[in-house]
Amino acid sequence: MAKPIVAIVGRPNVGKSTLFNKLVGKRISIVEDTPGVTRDRIYAEVEWLNYRFTLVDTGGIEPESEDIILKQMKRQAQIAIETADVILFMVDGKEGLTATDIEVAEMLRRVKKPVVLVVNKIDNLKLEDNKFEFYSLGLGEPITISAALSLGIGDMLDEIVKYFKDKEADDEEEPLIKVAIVGKPNVGKSSLLNRLTGEERAIVSDIPGTTRDAIDSLVEINGEKFLFIDTAGIRRKSKIKEEIEKYSVIRSLAAIDRADVCLIMIDATEGVTEQDEKIAGIAHEAGKGIVIVVNKWDLIEKDDKTMNEYNNKIRTALSFMTYAPIIYISAKTGQRVTKLIDLIKYVADQNAMRVKTGILNEVISEAVMLRQPPVEKGKALKIYYATQVLTKPPTFAIFVNDEEIVHFSYDRYLENQIRQHFGFEGTPIRLVYKSKK
Ligand code: GDP
Ligand code: GDP
Repeated sequence: MAKPIVAIVGRPNVGKSTLFNKLVGKRISIVEDTPGVTRDRIYAEVEWLNYRFTLVDTGGIEPESEDIILKQMKRQAQIAIETADVILFMVDGKEGLTATDIEVAEMLRRVKKPVVLVVNKIDNLKLEDNKFEFYSLGLGEPITISAALSLGIGDMLDEIVKYFKDKEADDEEEPLIKVAIVGKPNVGKSSLLNRLTGEERAIVSDIPGTTRDAIDSLVEINGEKFLFIDTAGIRRKSKIKEEIEKYSVIRSLAAIDRADVCLIMIDATEGVTEQDEKIAGIAHEAGKGIVIVVNKWDLIEKDDKTMNEYNNKIRTALSFMTYAPIIYISAKTGQRVTKLIDLIKYVADQNAMRVKTGILNEVISEAVMLRQPPVEKGKALKIYYATQVLTKPPTFAIFVNDEEIVHFSYDRYLENQIRQHFGFEGTPIRLVYKSKK
């Protein structure tokens, strides 16, 4: 189930980060050691009523002068236009309308994506009238909020989720495995895609909603349908390194969100880079099936130890996803590409696997007998019952006497026990503890 993406666009200091922080869900703090999540919070999972969406902050580094601000705002808006389902355009109700706002609004008006115009810093009723001048932007009714005081946030979210309906309809598709090939520029994403789609008759899909601005490829391989989500996108020219990286991370985010399986592509000649870690962290956090694909294997001089050395390095760098299989391929020669297809199918199945409650509880009780939970804060943890509540990713509710005293190391232990018995290879799993009243 793909979550809609909402991108915030707005000048520096209008209050984007303030709103972002208010909306950041609990989830982000769960996996604190995930790269790309804590280091720079460019996205957050938001829950509102029965809706869930991903909020993306397209804001870049702080620019110093007015003309740079405008340039950067245009770029932000472009990223939002390319990746988001709904654009949240934030303006400053205290400062009033600026020339930059007008130019950006013009850009946003030209695209068909829904735009929600949000006037921030309306801290009290007296300021409410400040919204009127923003009607001139031609983006419809301005919604007033105070991000700092948490006023009007509910109405704003109502307005945003109104646009999600079409998106949900997209989920009623025929069964197919959606695959995102993600990684840095030049790692070989397009080459792999060509390999995967070229040999079979590639049907360039024109399915509404699945294509967005990108071209996805629908391919049938041995009777199984795969949808390869386009991630190549536009290669933006920018002198600012951070900006290029941020842009490609946001693009990957959009693709990852829609995928069942993510291929994390690593360049064998470079090893795992910080950006690879970030992208892998996002896929992990999103609960997707994952295959680590080391490409350009043809360029590496090898002996019988090489693969092992690579394995070790990758496991160290991506230590939060030891569950993900690693495959060494060459998109250029086609080496192991057939095997990769099997692996994608396997990982998609594992990500969607459901285990029976009876067997799960046997496994958990056995694990508890083997190793008693440690005493935390003077209290012994008791585990009563476990059940799998969700798939994609497999999520387990574990009922305990006190959810606050579940030690990190015991959580890891239980996860390992579950994996040992059931596999769940290539997929993150989640254990959610609930105190039983
Ligand atoms: P960003 O650059 O768009 O991310 O803006 P920030 O979130 O960093 O906010 C810029 C400044 O505006 C900070 O000093 C915030 O405290 C302030 N600010 C944000 N939201 C509000 C608000 O609702 N009311 C008022 N009065 N100030 C706000
Ligand atoms: P993308 O930016 O990730 O889509 O990367 P491309 O598919 O455009 O590939 C970037 C460059 O790497 C091109 O020159 C490819 O020919 C080359 N390349 C891609 N895969 C391989 C590979 O497996 N082996 C070698 N030697 N070169 C590759």
